[in-house]
Amino acid sequence: MKLSLLTAAGIFLPNEKAAARYALETWQPPIRKLFLQFTEYEERPTTEVIVIHHAGFPDGDKDSSAEEIHKFHQEVNGWAGIGYHYVIRKDGTIEQGRRPNMIGAHALHHNKNSVGICVAGNFDVAKPNHQQMDSLKLLTAWLCQKYELDPVARGVIVGHRDLNDTACPGKNLYAKLDDVRYYCRDFNR
Ligand SMILES: [Zn+2]
Repeated sequence: MKLSLLTAAGIFLPNEKAAARYALETWQPPIRKLFLQFTEYEERPTTEVIVIHHAGFPDGDKDSSAEEIHKFHQEVNGWAGIGYHYVIRKDGTIEQGRRPNMIGAHALHHNKNSVGICVAGNFDVAKPNHQQMDSLKLLTAWLCQKYELDPVARGVIVGHRDLNDTACPGKNLYAKLDDVRYYCRDFNR
């Protein structure tokens, strides 16, 4: 319910702490919705893990959009569409890939209980920039809140390499995952 509706109904928040809690519960990071078309749709039964990826194109560190990855995953991989639920561009913009409640295609054997976030770039050769890290922290904190996950519990916020035989999300992003976990813990306190 919107705050204006609550106040219009004569329900007032008793103090600042409640107002802050209300703001946190209704807050959401800006996400650019692209309404991509998928060839199949299957709902994810549960969400227990947030998997961090990089785009990791072997020809180097570059930006890539959810639309480009969507096209690639459909036409080259033959998938239903983009495998990730979110893509974080080089300028920090968060783009919607798969619908949040769809089963993704980003971590073999782990798609039925996880959300996949792809950070654009190749972090074996470069470092994620500040805008990307800020967006990744906000998005992950919001997802932990939404799915009631403990960000510092083992196996909740993981790099793709923790689940499958891959270098993803690159050593330079993998090294920053503890920063993300502690940010999320403090954000949701
Ligand atoms: Zn990956």
